[in-house]
Amino acid sequence: MLAFDDTDSPDGMCTTYLTTLVLEELSDLDLLGWPRLVRLNPNVPWKTRGNAAVCLPLGYGEGRGRLCGRLERGDIRWFKSGRPVDPVELLDRASAVVERHARFECLTTNPGVVSGIVRPSPATYWRAVREVVPLEDVESELATRGIHWRKFKGGRGVIGASAAMAWRPRDRTWEVIAYRSPDKVGTPRDIDPESVIEMDRETRRTFNNYDPENGHIAIAPGSPCPVLFGIRGDSPRELMSAKDMIRGERPHKWLMYMSNQGTEDHMVRRRVSELGPGDSAKVNGTVSSPPTTIPGGHVIVGLKDDVEIDAAFYEQSRGMRDAARALLPGDKVVAYGSVRSSPRSLNVEKLQVVSLSSHARKTANPECSACRKRMGSMGSGQGYRCKVCGARAPASAAVLEPVIRSVSLGWYEPPVSSRRHLHKPLRRLSRGNINKL
Ligand SMILES: [Zn+2]
Repeated sequence: MLAFDDTDSPDGMCTTYLTTLVLEELSDLDLLGWPRLVRLNPNVPWKTRGNAAVCLPLGYGEGRGRLCGRLERGDIRWFKSGRPVDPVELLDRASAVVERHARFECLTTNPGVVSGIVRPSPATYWRAVREVVPLEDVESELATRGIHWRKFKGGRGVIGASAAMAWRPRDRTWEVIAYRSPDKVGTPRDIDPESVIEMDRETRRTFNNYDPENGHIAIAPGSPCPVLFGIRGDSPRELMSAKDMIRGERPHKWLMYMSNQGTEDHMVRRRVSELGPGDSAKVNGTVSSPPTTIPGGHVIVGLKDDVEIDAAFYEQSRGMRDAARALLPGDKVVAYGSVRSSPRSLNVEKLQVVSLSSHARKTANPECSACRKRMGSMGSGQGYRCKVCGARAPASAAVLEPVIRSVSLGWYEPPVSSRRHLHKPLRRLSRGNINKL
């Protein structure tokens, strides 16, 4: 079993291109399971947007394989069973490929390559997706288990590679990635937007294809990397046909990955008092102060759990930001987000409005019960007095009207273009197609 990581690639896409090169060169080996594309903690300080690692369960397959890609070497299949390959030999061969392509523009990095018969402990994955893990911890775990590794430059990639190898999926999705012909890399991609919208409409279990709020085709990366497009979904069979629905430039090759994308594995339920910088957390809270809009169009809402925190809704989150702006004190919400240290805030990535408090607005002063005339105010909170007969009424006698709320109960999330790789889209929730344990 082989894994590698390249923490510095601009969007993680090139780690997957390297995957295809490794598979091309190690053409005598088979996949004993899906190739795995694993996203790690999106809040690490040296963060690259993608923070992706790849694990390839390589060996010698037995029986009939299932199609999972088409590369220059031909069809790629994965097998349910097979014989292992010598991990030291595998490490040497794969490292040679990484080294040879290290000058590739997307690989300006600290790659790490890991190879072993056994996997690191599941905790290695869970820590790397939720925390900042020191390289020494991972190296001692690998040494304990007899797993081999090689570092290039700083070798930070060993952390992600080990985490990818340690991943035992609880929930999982798939992504089919189509790559461009080498002579086209760097030129504008030719993808027919209409075909993406059609594919989005005609498939049931794909997600993050198209961003109607920004009119943006989300399956194609913005960077000049070899990826033509990537389609994510819950059904590998459906993805197989979804890729053929995209019109325009023909993919040079393609590969399907099993992934933790869209699983929300990075989120942990926490009390506000427990939150530390860089944490990703679900927080149950009550709105404690009315929303304020700050320059840039971002909205800040005071949220109280055991203690208070500012919940920040970025302008880019559009509809979710608008919902946040309509919250009022007393409303109960669940906020999913990442913790920023200064100013300390929870940057909200998904919101559930659980209950709305009732609010009333004063519409008029009370009438005098004797004179039937509107009474006059004696000052804020001081009650009322009739100017004709001098009768008094308490402040609570004012005529009130319930405030009509412009936010509804339910879920809110940012547009497709502003989501993180690990974000679990509502489309996955609503279609009830979350993979069970
Ligand atoms: Zn009166």
